[in-house]
Parts: sequence; structure tokens; C-alpha cells
Amino acid sequence: MVIGGGAAGFMAAITAAEQGVKRVLVLEATPELLNKVRISGGGRCNVTHACWDPAELVGHYPRGQRALKGVFSRFAAGDAIAWFADRGLVLIEEADGRMFPEQNRSEAVIQCLKRAALKAGVKVQTRAMVQRLSVQSEGVFLVDGRGLDQPLSAQKVMLATGGHPSGRKMAENLGHQLVPPVPSLFSLSLEASALAACSGIAVDDVGLELKLNNQRFRHVGRVLITHRGLSGPATLRLSAFAARALHGSRYRGELRVDWSAGLGRSGVEQRLKQWRQEQARRTLAAAKPFDHFPRRLWQAFLMLAGADGERRWAELPVKSERRLVEILCAQPLSIQGRGPFGEEFVTAGGVDLGEVNLATMESRRCPGLYLAGELLDVDGVTGGFNFQACWSGGWLAGQSIALAD
Ligand SMILES: Cc1cc2nc3c(=O)[nH]c(=O)nc-3n(C[C@H](O)[C@H](O)[C@H](O)COP(=O)(O)OP(=O)(O)OC[C@H]3O[C@@H](n4cnc5c(N)ncnc54)[C@H](O)[C@@H]3O)c2cc1C
Repeated sequence: MVIGGGAAGFMAAITAAEQGVKRVLVLEATPELLNKVRISGGGRCNVTHACWDPAELVGHYPRGQRALKGVFSRFAAGDAIAWFADRGLVLIEEADGRMFPEQNRSEAVIQCLKRAALKAGVKVQTRAMVQRLSVQSEGVFLVDGRGLDQPLSAQKVMLATGGHPSGRKMAENLGHQLVPPVPSLFSLSLEASALAACSGIAVDDVGLELKLNNQRFRHVGRVLITHRGLSGPATLRLSAFAARALHGSRYRGELRVDWSAGLGRSGVEQRLKQWRQEQARRTLAAAKPFDHFPRRLWQAFLMLAGADGERRWAELPVKSERRLVEILCAQPLSIQGRGPFGEEFVTAGGVDLGEVNLATMESRRCPGLYLAGELLDVDGVTGGFNFQACWSGGWLAGQSIALAD
């Protein structure tokens, strides 16, 4: 029996049924199956990421990392791509490695999973909210809840309830240690700054550095300026790796932003010196010394540095030049809170990985119980990594259930 009709639950149910397990039933609390798949990736579903090496893949998981190596060595992105292809769904790689269904619609993923489940004989009951899971006698579980006519018994149970508190509670009641849940993958709200006027601008190769207590987080990548602060892949990645530290600091801290695209302090100083000579007669606002960000942002930097854009380059005061170098290489921005979630909001925390045998996804506390997906203390950055953890964990659990059957 599988509790939870999401990505991890469906993968486990299909795998177990295809491997010959006779009665596989998925219980889903809501009226719809695979809800998160539907809304994922902006309605396109970023199914996985073209990352073939398990050692490299684990680097995209702030929680899970080393422990996931074994899981991915048995079922990783290449296996997921082949699994879906065998069931009629082709995944296409985008330039940044993200993989989407050929139809570019999440509905295609849902249909593929539903078709495979039907073909394998998986039964599904929606509007079945499991509230109690207990061990009745050795090797028999009792499952009860809203929407079930009567309590059901099962020899093997898979808990795949995602980030829903009910699943964590059931796991805890069966003796599992939980890591407290905190949000991951969110944008950052910053102190009202001159950058607000640049809302909507995206810049590549931006370095973000955050120091909280004794921890240092640094990520380089694309940043999107929003009206409240910063978002975009590098910000979301930073929020994921710093999720627990940021939660501990109540989402306050000082961010240093390096807008120099790898030029560094000496490179920026040199470029400004060169512009002072070569563009001497042009105004600061008109002659932008860097190609990688737009004029609107350059003008905001000039304003922050106290430099009048109408002045000529030859007249740039040394003090403003120094401030410009500082802003371009290590702009201090004060984090004031957690902004709206990125398009892939996930929960960090859940059942401690030490409670699960990651070769089989079976609980170490409760034989016959399997756990996978977001319920576990595993989460990845944006890019298809969260679903990949569900496909891998679900597949392993399904295989193990079939082997033990
Ligand atoms: C807006 C959004 C976009 C995303 N986009 C992407 C993306 O493109 N790529 C990516 O890799 N990740 C993405 N993610 C993350 C990804 O959706 C999750 O990591 C993944 O869905 C987790 O799967 P799961 O099966 O563990 O849990 P879920 O998908 O949450 O499934 C759990 C299911 O269990 C049911 N359930 C819960 N409690 C009970 C209960 N007590 N009884 C019965 N049923 C229960 C729930 O209703 C739910 O259907 C996105 C997340 C969000 C919110």
C-alpha cells in the first residue's frame, strides 16, 4: 500500500506492480493525483536534470548529499530518462541541462504515469486521507483515516506524503527521528534599496556571499532583481544551501554581492581607470564600462556611489570611484526577510536519513515500512533535482517491496 499519490508514491507503486506485486493500492488525500507534477516547472514539469555522474548529482542536494550517492548509483537521471522513454515519454534537454517532456506540458508526465500505473494493475483511491498508521501485529500494518470505509491492513506500506505534516506525524509515531522542517528555495527580501528601481533586470555571473554565525555560503550565477530584493537561480540556490542557517537567524543577515562577473577588484579598478582615460569627455551615465548589465543598473550604481551621471569620466571624483569599486565587487545588502517562494518551493527537513536503509528505502525502525520523496530530509536546488530524488527513492522502494514480497 502506498500512502500519497505524488511523484515518489507513483514511481514506487508502478515499480512494485511491474515487478509482480499483486495488490498495489495508492491512497491519495486530495481528489487529484500528482498535483505537484501538474503545477511544477511553471506547468511544464522539469522532470530531471542531465547530470550523469552520481558524484556530481549529489552536489545539487543541500540535504542528502553524500548519503544519496548510493541511491543515485542505482537509479539516477539516465535511468529516469530511460524509464520514461520505455513508457512513451521522451524528455528533452534544455541548454542549461534541465529536462522537460517533449510536449512541454506537465500533463504529459501525469498521463504517462497514470497509463503505466493502469497497465501494471495499480489501484488508486483518491479523497482518502490517512490519519493513522500502526503496526497491528508482526508484519501487518493497519491504515485508517478519512474517506476510508473501514481500516485497511497491509504487509508493506510506503509513506510518500511529501511535505504534508500528517506523514511526518505518522513516521514520528512509529519511532522515527524527524529533522524539523524549514522552507527552502525562496527569494530574499532586502532593505529598501536603490536596486528596487531595477526590478525585472536579470544579471549573469553574479557572486552572492552570505556569512551567518560561523558559516559561509557562496554561489555564483544568474540573479533577478525584484521589487522586494533578489531572486533568480543563484539566489534560490543560496537560499537552499543556507536554508537552516537563515531560518536560525530569522531571515536576517548581510549579503555581499559581486556584480563584476569575475573581473574582481583589480579588474574593475583597471577598467574604471581605462574609462577615465579613453572616455574622458563622455558622461558617466552615457559611457557604461561593463557590457554584462544594462544601463538602468549602471545608473543605480552611480547613484549609490554618489556620482553624478552628468559628469564627465575625466571628472569622476576619486571618492566616488572607490565607492563604485566597492559596490561593484562587494555591495553590502541587508537581508530583511524571506521573499516569495521560487517556482519550486520545497521543504527542507523531514524523516532523518539515518532512519532509512538507503539501499532499499526501508525504515530501520519499522520493518515493512518504506519512505521516499520529500517526506525525507532530502531536498535539491531548482533544475529537476527534487523530482529526481523522488524517482530514485520511489524506484528503489518499489524494487525492494517486490523483492521482499
Ligand atoms: C510550484 C512547484 C513547482 C515545482 N517544480 C518542480 C520542478 O519543475 N522540478 C522538480 O524537480 N521539482 C519541482 N518541485 C518540487 C517537487 O514538486 C517536489 O519535490 C515533489 O513533488 C515531491 O514529491 P513527493 O511525491 O515526495 O510529494 P508530493 O508531490 O507532495 O506528493 C505527496 C502526496 O501525498 C498526499 N498526501 C499527503 N498526506 C497524505 C495523507 N495523510 N494521506 C493520503 N495522502 C496524503 C498529498 O496530497 C500529495 O498528493 C516543485 C514544487 C512546487 C511547489
